[in-house]
Amino acid sequence: MTAASTIAALLAAGEAGRPAIRAPERPSLTYDGLRALAERTVAALNSIGIGRGDRVAIVLPNGPEMAAAFVAIACGATTAPLNPAYKEEEFEFYLTDLKAKALVIQQGMESPARAVAARLGVPVVELVPGEAAGAFSLAGGQPGQAARPGMAEAEDVALVLHTSGTTARPKIVPLTQANVTASAASIARTLELTPEDACLNVMPLFHIHGLIAATLASLAAGGAVICTPGFNALKFFGWLDAERPSWYTAVPTMHQAILQRAERNREIIARAPLRFLRSSSASLPAQAMKDLSAAFDAPVIEAYGMTEASHQMCSNPLPPRPQKPGLVGLPAGPEVAIMAEDGRILPQGEIGEVVIRGPNVTKGYEANPEANAKAFTDGWFRTGDQGMFDADGYLMLTGRLKELIKRGGEQVSPLEVDGILSEHPAVAQALTFGIPHPMLGEEVGAAIVLREGMDCTERELRDFAAKHLADFKVPRKVVFLPEIPKGATGKLMRIGLAQKLGITA
Ligand code: ATP
Ligand code: MG
Repeated sequence: MTAASTIAALLAAGEAGRPAIRAPERPSLTYDGLRALAERTVAALNSIGIGRGDRVAIVLPNGPEMAAAFVAIACGATTAPLNPAYKEEEFEFYLTDLKAKALVIQQGMESPARAVAARLGVPVVELVPGEAAGAFSLAGGQPGQAARPGMAEAEDVALVLHTSGTTARPKIVPLTQANVTASAASIARTLELTPEDACLNVMPLFHIHGLIAATLASLAAGGAVICTPGFNALKFFGWLDAERPSWYTAVPTMHQAILQRAERNREIIARAPLRFLRSSSASLPAQAMKDLSAAFDAPVIEAYGMTEASHQMCSNPLPPRPQKPGLVGLPAGPEVAIMAEDGRILPQGEIGEVVIRGPNVTKGYEANPEANAKAFTDGWFRTGDQGMFDADGYLMLTGRLKELIKRGGEQVSPLEVDGILSEHPAVAQALTFGIPHPMLGEEVGAAIVLREGMDCTERELRDFAAKHLADFKVPRKVVFLPEIPKGATGKLMRIGLAQKLGITA
């Protein structure tokens, strides 16, 4: 495994003729090809006045060009991938906030980002796709001299990304070359990735999970990433069959959609076996993990990640070491500890805030001294998540501090209630949330998606929950939905759900 501290150095370790970036129905881009692309891209950017530390906003459809643009542009500038689905106001906010020096956008792609860039005076650079998966050339921009030309160094910011916005307005997180390469290397180590491995990427490439776990970790191991246009449960099994990846990584909502179609795609699963499946970015209920593992006859590796840590913090190990359903595994990247409210580090077995420190952790949010003052204590970054270590050193998350339901004097972990509800045979998905209550502060509510062809009443579910949970944790209101609302990265949003659904206590 490479100990590279820049993306360029990480690419240097790949074997020349091996595929680095793949895509369905396209020739592969080899390591040689990707290295040459990175050099050409840095030179092209330098010639239009963009160099190290300058920010390049990237608006591209999900796919191989997006993966390649991230890697190649990051070799000599700072990348800021944006969600192509943003509306005008959002582009205005991000392009301004990021102080973008250029906007790279796919040729022919219509996007409100173009008009916003023109208004803000941000030069637009067209990305013209080539033949091989991810190959491209850049056109446009004004000729100029870059203040800091050449290849980026370890402490240059490689990537600025905003958090998913699950609990508040997204915060901007700068991550250095050293941060992202350290994270990629630790993911590759955890998953024992080799040049033989190929990851099917279904994650959006404007989010840390797809950029680092699927893309950069694959490249750190000298393996390949197979880029799809994004998650599609109907096309997923076709991609498995045609591309024969060795693994994929996704958020639980995607795994659950895949699981619903696993039975009728048994033959494909049998002839296109996976070495393992990986789940991260939100909690995978223990039941879903067991069902997935059985359906694919492969281990399911749940990991714990966040933008501020360049993704991975903990991960379940591969066999022969055990994967614990419902737990997020062993520290796998930064140091991980549990902190009391007063800043004391707590012993094993006690519940507190999860804190991290290490080479993959950001130095702080951008232009947000208030958030930074709250986020760091004695050099530890406070994740805002609550949890404890079990006797084997596996981390159990009990929820986000902001999402804990405070019912009278009691605290309810929504993750615990989700886990129990998911064990009911009729439940495909459960999301527990707080409902504002005049006396108690909050009451417990749950949104349920039923399994296809199954039925169940609110009463039955509450009785089921009452068998496994203390009375105060049992949802007082249960709503059945065809689908639970998701954020842009596929995450379920608990905060504000009661208001959104018009549910009152
Ligand atoms: P914001 O910070 O803007 O509210 P966000 O925290 O959802 O959004 P991300 O950085 O994408 O943005 O997500 C990190 C968070 O996701 C973690 O802090 C944790 O709460 C949650 N998470 C990640 N992996 C897991 C997991 N395996 N189990 C439970 N929660 C997880
Ligand atoms: Mg967060």
